[in-house]
Amino acid sequence: MYAIYLRKSRNDDPHDTIEQTLSRHESILYDLANRMQITINKDHVYKEVVSGESIAARPEMQRLLTDIEKGIYEGVLVVEVERLARGNSIDQGIISQAFQYSKTKIITPLKVIDPSNEYDQEYFEFGLFMSRREYKTINRRMQQGRKLSSEQGLYVGSCPPYGYQIKRLKKGTTLQFDAHEYPILTFMKDLIVYQNKTISEVADTLNHAQIKPRKSDYWTRNMVLHILTNPVNIGKIKWEYRQEIKTVFHGEMIKTRPRNKQAHYYKGLHPSAFTDEEYALIKSKIHAKKGKTNPHSSMMNPLSGLIICGFCGKTLLRRPYKDHSDFLICPTKKEYCPNVSSQLKIVEDKILWGLKKVLMTYDRLIDDSSSYAPSMQHTYTLLSQIDKDLCQLQKQFNKTYEFLEIGTYSLETFQHRQQSIQDKMHLLHQQKEKITLSIEQMNFKKEHYTIPILKKVIHLYDLLTPQDQNKLLSSLIDHCIYKKTKSSRWNPQAIDDFELEIYLKI
Ligand SMILES: [Zn+2]
Repeated sequence: MYAIYLRKSRNDDPHDTIEQTLSRHESILYDLANRMQITINKDHVYKEVVSGESIAARPEMQRLLTDIEKGIYEGVLVVEVERLARGNSIDQGIISQAFQYSKTKIITPLKVIDPSNEYDQEYFEFGLFMSRREYKTINRRMQQGRKLSSEQGLYVGSCPPYGYQIKRLKKGTTLQFDAHEYPILTFMKDLIVYQNKTISEVADTLNHAQIKPRKSDYWTRNMVLHILTNPVNIGKIKWEYRQEIKTVFHGEMIKTRPRNKQAHYYKGLHPSAFTDEEYALIKSKIHAKKGKTNPHSSMMNPLSGLIICGFCGKTLLRRPYKDHSDFLICPTKKEYCPNVSSQLKIVEDKILWGLKKVLMTYDRLIDDSSSYAPSMQHTYTLLSQIDKDLCQLQKQFNKTYEFLEIGTYSLETFQHRQQSIQDKMHLLHQQKEKITLSIEQMNFKKEHYTIPILKKVIHLYDLLTPQDQNKLLSSLIDHCIYKKTKSSRWNPQAIDDFELEIYLKI
């Protein structure tokens, strides 16, 4: 039984789709099979539709290797040895061994390789090795080719920028407007340039209009920023060769590709979506925004350091907006923390309301005449001693029945013992009540001192600067736990629908 393995490689015409290349190869290999009088069942054609280099990234290769290891094939037909492995030498070893141990032949239009033949094996491994070298050469050649194409104004990327689609020319590829995305791109630009919206507001507007981005469910500020600042929009092609820098770290080779600051821009063959003036305006707005961030922004937040995210434990931060009120946000990325942000003012009001409520309850409970205050520690020791004694007495009380039964006590003695124990217990209960009451009074006393502070906070709060507001709140509040799951963006009723637990210092 024989199999066919098909995979598009970098040697193939890049303008052909994987499907086109593979079907061409398939007919070459069926011709070869006919000449060799081999019949191949359609079920034994392994067609790699993904273009991964490693075995891990090639599901059909994995399937083929499993079948080869079972020893079901006499040979596998491929257009060239290099189609089997590329890149990683471990992968090459795995493939080479699988063919060798199962004695599976590799049949190419050029040569039939029998891995059980020593010379063939060598040729095979050399072929795999060559492919790795070749890959590097091709890669280098491709980079040069891409640069040349960019200089000619062609678009060399495989993924078109937002608003565009790839258009094939005779000498390469360029861009043309995408019928669906281009109006959205223009709409985004108009919001910024002519309606004076911020980048975040553009994202909000798109989300509100239920316009979805290409790959995710909703727009983020960064996505909009990335799209609008792409020089492709003013008809330019950016050539940014990122030089690979290799460093050895703890004996391991680490490759980094730092961003090349000196990117080249070439005049593209594609149409512009923005005028140069519009593009300059967008850029200047972004820079203005960047320069505006206040270095003392924490000083602008009266709740600074006080509100903890109920989901991830991070301290919430104030996020200022140009034309609406500040928000309190969890700094953790949305993917990792579900907490929904709130208007800072609303959280602040809730805290003040909570403090007022505390103040009111304490006002009712307080008793100024209670001045009795022995040390707390002593009181608690006393209380636990009483509990122990009570427990002991209860045991003695139970024992009196036993003694009566076995005749140790006469009825008279029994009654007398019971009475005496009950009296003792009654006395202890009275003592316990007294002490418990005094503890409560001591607590009132503690609250008594906090009341004036609380009152002060509430009265002065609005007159203070955010810094002083923060100082005051920090003197009273240890921390607050904030949790919100409902977004109020499309549901205004959810605006103050959040959980807030206030932990007081006092
Ligand atoms: Zn969080």
